Amino acid sequence: MRKDSPHTQAVRAGLESDLHHGAVVPPLHLSTNYTFTGLGQKRTFDYSRSGNPTRQILADAVAQLEGGACGVITATGMAAITVVCHTLKRGDRVIASHDCYGGTQRLLNALSAQGFLEVEFVDTSDLAAVERALVTPCALLWLETPSNPLLNITDIDACVALARPRRVTVAVDNTFLSPLWQQPLRLGADVVVHSTTKYLNGHSDVVGGAIVAAYPTLGQQLAWWANCLGVTGGAFDAYQTLRGLRTLQPRLKAHEQNAAAVVQTLAAHAAVKHVYYPGLPQHPGHAIAKRQQASFGAMVSFTLRGGRAACEQLCQRLRLFSLAESLGGVESLVAHPSSMTHAAMTPEQQHAAGFGEDLLRLSVGIEESADLVADLQQALATL
Ligand code: PLP
Repeated sequence: MRKDSPHTQAVRAGLESDLHHGAVVPPLHLSTNYTFTGLGQKRTFDYSRSGNPTRQILADAVAQLEGGACGVITATGMAAITVVCHTLKRGDRVIASHDCYGGTQRLLNALSAQGFLEVEFVDTSDLAAVERALVTPCALLWLETPSNPLLNITDIDACVALARPRRVTVAVDNTFLSPLWQQPLRLGADVVVHSTTKYLNGHSDVVGGAIVAAYPTLGQQLAWWANCLGVTGGAFDAYQTLRGLRTLQPRLKAHEQNAAAVVQTLAAHAAVKHVYYPGLPQHPGHAIAKRQQASFGAMVSFTLRGGRAACEQLCQRLRLFSLAESLGGVESLVAHPSSMTHAAMTPEQQHAAGFGEDLLRLSVGIEESADLVADLQQALATL
C-alpha cells in the first residue's frame, strides 16, 4: 500500500479513533483516572500522569512524523530536555552546541554546578571541534541545528558518524524546523526533542514539549522518567497541539515564503550589517542545510549598524512584528536575544557564541508577505 506523506499523516493523526460514537476528531479525555476491569486488571490507561488517550495520539503522531519508535509528550520543551538529562548517570559528560537555546544552557550549567554532569559547550558546526571534544569519554552529544539565535548549521550525519563508534547518544533539538523540514533520526540521531510551543502547535497558545526516541528501549526509559518526574503534558494542551499539527504543512509553506521575502528586504538595506539565514549562499552552513533540511526555515537573525540603540528603535517602529520571546507561531515576532531569550548567558558567553547587543531575531509569521516587507521597510527607513 502507498505510504501517506507526512503532511497527510499530520492532518489525519488520530482521526476516527473514537470507537464509542464514531467522532471524526478524537475526543479530549480530561479524566484523571480510568477504571480497572477487576483487581490487577488494568486497561490501557490508569492514571493521566502516566498515560492519557489524547496525549498518546499526539505522541504517536509526532513519533510517526519524526520516523521514531516512540514519542513522549511533556509539559514544556524544557521538561523534554530535563527528561533526556535524566537518562544520564551522575558524572556523565555532555557536549552541547555552544549556541543552543539559553534555557538548555542554563539547565546543563546548573546540573554541572551541582556536580551531576560535566558539560562542555562546543561549536558543533565545526566538526574538528566536535571530534576533539569527543576524545574525552562522553555520554551525550546535544545538537541544536539550526541554532538559536545565529542559525548555525551542524552536520547531523557527520556528528553521528563521529559519535556512534564512541557509543555516545546523539540528541537533536529540532524545534526550529519541525519534522516536516528536518528528520534527525533518519540522519542517525538517537533522540529528538521539540518545544511543541513553537511550530508544532503553531498558534502561541500552548506551552509543551515532545521527545521522540529512535528505538523502543530508549523510548521506554524516557516515558518512565517523564512519569517519574511528573512532567508529562496536559490533555487539553495535547488536544490543542494536535489541532495545530494538522495545519503544519500549509503554515510552514507560508512561513517559508515570507521568510524569503524578509531576508531579501534585510539583505538589501544599508542599515543592516549582516543577515544570518541558512538560505543565503554565503551562509557557512548553506550546503549542509540544503542537504539535511527540506527548507531553510523561517527564523532570521540580523545585526544593525547602529547597534543596540538601532535595535531598540526598530523594535519600537515595527507594527507587524510583536516584540516578544518564543517563535513558530502564525504571528511575526521580533526578539533581542542578548536581553531576552539569551539573557541567562553572560555577555562573555554571548560573545563566545558569536552574538551581541546589535542582534535581532525574527520569527517570520504567515501574514501577507507584502505587508511584512512594507512594515520592515518603513521601520528600517527611520534608522
Ligand atoms: N528548545 C528551543 C530551540 C527553544 O527555542 C525553546 C524555547 O524557546 C526550548 C527548547 C524550550 O521550550 P519551552 O519554552 O517550551 O520549555
